[in-house]
Amino acid sequence: MEKINCNVIQDILPLYIDDVVSDDTKELVEEHLQNCEICQRVYHETKTDLENDMKVSVQTKESSNEANDLKNFRKFLKKRKIKTILLSIAATIVCFVAVFMFMNKHVTYISYKDAGITIIEDNKDEVTYRTNIKGNYRWRTSLDRETGVMTIHFEQSLWEKYVSCIFYPYDHIHDILKKDEIKEVYVDKDGTTTTIWEAPEEEQKAYLSEEHTEPLG
Ligand SMILES: [Zn+2]
Repeated sequence: MEKINCNVIQDILPLYIDDVVSDDTKELVEEHLQNCEICQRVYHETKTDLENDMKVSVQTKESSNEANDLKNFRKFLKKRKIKTILLSIAATIVCFVAVFMFMNKHVTYISYKDAGITIIEDNKDEVTYRTNIKGNYRWRTSLDRETGVMTIHFEQSLWEKYVSCIFYPYDHIHDILKKDEIKEVYVDKDGTTTTIWEAPEEEQKAYLSEEHTEPLG
């Protein structure tokens, strides 16, 4: 009888330790424990085991939390890194656009000397000339029909002068000038002028003797 009792007691010991038994069972177990050394030992062992199990479970949970924290922190760092990279790229683009706009807006005149103009062909109807301007550039021509003077105005932006010159050749061959209308060709730079081509004297006389009645400009 005693043996059976011990088995029954030991079966319910975990429940007793967890304090989920009825008061009657509790009383029964305590009474038995007081008189049974074997069950007392089993009680202590079971209690220790259960407590250890609890500790391990708590520790596992904690370490898993720590691992999660570390994971989250890494994710956070990664996100911040990506954000930093994106911001750097955006800042670089903004700087680039600002520099481009500034350099494109600042236009400088190109003097006759810097334009490196040479006449390469001079026949009856046309004059072909070459410039030697570093980089891309723009030019405007204006013709004063009364005097027969054509003015060419070369200019380029800082961007064209210092950046796009990497992609453009130095030499440019320019279009034709209609000689029958033109007596003289100037390159204009800040109000000073340099003649790059002049019609022969007879042609100039012929030009001046003709009547130029068409409207100016
Ligand atoms: Zn017992």
